[in-house]
Amino acid sequence: MSNVEETLSIIKPDAVDRNLDNEIKEMFKNKGFSILKEKKIQIEKSEAEKFYKVHETKPFYNDLCAYLSSGPIVVMVLEKENAVLANRELMGATNPNDAEEGTIRKKYGISIDKNSVHGSDSVENAKIEIDFFFND
Ligand code: UDP
Ligand code: MG
Repeated sequence: MSNVEETLSIIKPDAVDRNLDNEIKEMFKNKGFSILKEKKIQIEKSEAEKFYKVHETKPFYNDLCAYLSSGPIVVMVLEKENAVLANRELMGATNPNDAEEGTIRKKYGISIDKNSVHGSDSVENAKIEIDFFFND
Protein backbone atom coordinates (compact mmCIF):
# COMPACT_ATOMS: atom_id res chain seq x y z
CA MET A 1 0.00 0.00 0.00
CA SER A 2 1.30 3.45 -0.77
CA ASN A 3 2.05 5.89 2.03
CA VAL A 4 2.67 9.30 0.54
CA GLU A 5 3.59 11.82 3.25
CA GLU A 6 4.51 15.47 3.53
CA THR A 7 7.41 16.70 5.65
CA LEU A 8 8.93 20.08 6.45
CA SER A 9 12.46 20.83 5.35
CA ILE A 10 14.50 23.92 6.15
CA ILE A 11 17.72 24.90 4.42
CA LYS A 12 19.45 26.65 7.31
CA PRO A 13 21.35 29.98 7.24
CA ASP A 14 24.83 28.43 6.85
CA ALA A 15 23.77 26.73 3.59
CA VAL A 16 21.75 29.63 2.17
CA ASP A 17 24.68 31.92 3.00
CA ARG A 18 26.96 29.69 0.87
CA ASN A 19 24.39 29.68 -1.98
CA LEU A 20 23.82 25.94 -1.58
CA ASP A 21 20.01 26.09 -1.73
CA ASN A 22 19.73 25.06 -5.38
CA GLU A 23 22.20 22.17 -4.99
CA ILE A 24 20.35 20.92 -1.92
CA LYS A 25 16.99 21.21 -3.71
CA GLU A 26 18.47 19.10 -6.55
CA MET A 27 19.44 16.43 -4.00
CA PHE A 28 15.81 16.28 -2.83
CA LYS A 29 14.48 16.10 -6.40
CA ASN A 30 17.02 13.42 -7.37
CA LYS A 31 15.76 11.31 -4.47
CA GLY A 32 12.20 11.61 -5.78
CA PHE A 33 10.86 14.32 -3.48
CA SER A 34 8.38 16.81 -4.91
CA ILE A 35 8.73 20.33 -3.54
CA LEU A 36 5.07 21.29 -3.03
CA LYS A 37 5.70 24.67 -1.43
CA GLU A 38 8.78 26.76 -0.78
CA LYS A 39 9.72 30.22 0.38
CA LYS A 40 12.89 32.07 1.30
CA ILE A 41 12.36 34.04 4.50
CA GLN A 42 14.15 35.36 7.56
CA ILE A 43 12.44 34.77 10.89
CA GLU A 44 12.57 36.64 14.19
CA LYS A 45 14.35 35.02 17.13
CA SER A 46 10.99 34.81 18.92
CA GLU A 47 9.62 32.71 16.03
CA ALA A 48 12.67 30.42 16.14
CA GLU A 49 12.07 29.98 19.89
CA LYS A 50 8.50 28.88 19.13
CA PHE A 51 9.60 26.54 16.34
CA TYR A 52 12.26 24.86 18.49
CA LYS A 53 10.20 24.90 21.73
CA VAL A 54 10.75 21.12 22.22
CA HIS A 55 14.42 21.97 22.85
CA GLU A 56 13.83 24.81 25.31
CA THR A 57 15.50 23.02 28.22
CA LYS A 58 18.61 22.10 26.21
CA PRO A 59 21.88 23.95 26.76
CA PHE A 60 22.11 24.78 23.03
CA TYR A 61 18.57 26.26 22.78
CA ASN A 62 19.49 29.94 22.90
CA ASP A 63 22.33 29.63 20.37
CA LEU A 64 20.15 27.45 18.13
CA CYS A 65 17.36 30.04 18.03
CA ALA A 66 19.81 32.91 17.49
CA TYR A 67 21.36 30.94 14.66
CA LEU A 68 18.12 29.96 12.86
CA SER A 69 17.06 33.61 12.88
CA SER A 70 20.50 34.96 11.87
CA GLY A 71 19.92 35.00 8.11
CA PRO A 72 17.67 33.85 5.28
CA ILE A 73 16.38 30.27 5.27
CA VAL A 74 14.50 28.27 2.64
CA VAL A 75 11.44 26.51 4.02
CA MET A 76 9.88 23.70 1.95
CA VAL A 77 7.08 21.18 2.05
CA LEU A 78 8.43 17.94 0.59
CA GLU A 79 6.24 15.09 -0.61
CA LYS A 80 7.23 11.49 -1.24
CA GLU A 81 6.46 7.93 -0.19
CA ASN A 82 7.43 7.77 3.52
CA ALA A 83 8.75 11.34 3.22
CA VAL A 84 9.49 11.89 6.92
CA LEU A 85 11.91 8.98 7.23
CA ALA A 86 13.25 9.37 3.69
CA ASN A 87 14.15 12.99 4.45
CA ARG A 88 15.83 12.08 7.74
CA GLU A 89 17.89 9.51 5.84
CA LEU A 90 18.87 11.94 3.12
CA MET A 91 19.80 14.60 5.71
CA GLY A 92 22.07 12.29 7.70
CA ALA A 93 23.04 12.42 11.37
CA THR A 94 22.65 15.65 13.37
CA ASN A 95 26.43 15.88 13.70
CA PRO A 96 27.91 16.04 10.17
CA ASN A 97 30.95 14.14 11.49
CA ASP A 98 28.68 11.14 12.09
CA ALA A 99 26.69 11.48 8.85
CA GLU A 100 26.91 8.81 6.14
CA GLU A 101 28.47 9.40 2.74
CA GLY A 102 25.91 10.76 0.28
CA THR A 103 23.85 12.63 2.89
CA ILE A 104 23.26 16.38 2.83
CA ARG A 105 24.89 16.95 6.21
CA LYS A 106 27.95 14.90 5.27
CA LYS A 107 28.33 16.87 2.06
CA TYR A 108 27.55 20.38 3.30
CA GLY A 109 27.33 20.46 7.11
CA ILE A 110 30.00 22.47 8.92
CA SER A 111 29.37 21.44 12.54
CA ILE A 112 26.64 20.09 14.82
CA ASP A 113 25.07 23.54 15.05
CA LYS A 114 25.67 24.60 11.43
CA ASN A 115 24.37 21.39 9.91
CA SER A 116 22.68 22.93 6.85
CA VAL A 117 19.21 21.38 7.05
CA HIS A 118 16.26 20.70 9.33
CA GLY A 119 13.72 17.92 8.79
CA SER A 120 10.60 16.94 10.72
CA ASP A 121 11.13 13.87 12.92
CA SER A 122 7.58 12.40 12.80
CA VAL A 123 4.40 12.65 10.74
CA GLU A 124 2.71 14.41 13.65
CA ASN A 125 5.48 17.01 13.97
CA ALA A 126 5.58 17.43 10.19
CA LYS A 127 1.93 18.57 10.27
CA ILE A 128 2.66 21.00 13.11
CA GLU A 129 5.79 22.38 11.40
CA ILE A 130 4.12 22.72 7.98
CA ASP A 131 1.27 24.61 9.62
CA PHE A 132 3.79 26.80 11.47
CA PHE A 133 5.31 28.10 8.21
CA PHE A 134 2.45 27.69 5.72
CA ASN A 135 -0.70 28.51 7.59
CA ASP A 136 -2.29 30.89 5.09
N1 UDP B 1 21.99 21.16 17.99
C1 UDP B 1 23.11 21.80 18.49
N2 UDP B 1 23.87 21.15 19.42
C2 UDP B 1 23.57 19.90 19.87
C3 UDP B 1 22.44 19.25 19.35
C4 UDP B 1 21.66 19.90 18.41
O1 UDP B 1 23.39 22.93 18.11
O2 UDP B 1 24.32 19.37 20.71
C5 UDP B 1 21.16 21.85 16.99
C6 UDP B 1 21.38 21.33 15.58
O3 UDP B 1 21.32 22.45 14.70
C7 UDP B 1 20.19 20.43 15.38
C8 UDP B 1 19.10 21.16 16.16
O4 UDP B 1 19.78 21.67 17.30
O5 UDP B 1 19.88 20.29 14.01
C9 UDP B 1 17.95 20.33 16.61
O6 UDP B 1 18.44 19.19 17.33
P1 UDP B 1 17.86 17.76 17.07
O7 UDP B 1 18.40 16.87 18.12
O8 UDP B 1 16.37 17.83 16.92
O9 UDP B 1 18.55 17.34 15.68
P2 UDP B 1 17.96 17.16 14.20
O10 UDP B 1 16.54 16.69 14.36
O11 UDP B 1 18.05 18.50 13.53
O12 UDP B 1 18.84 16.14 13.56
MG1 MG C 1 14.97 17.39 15.49
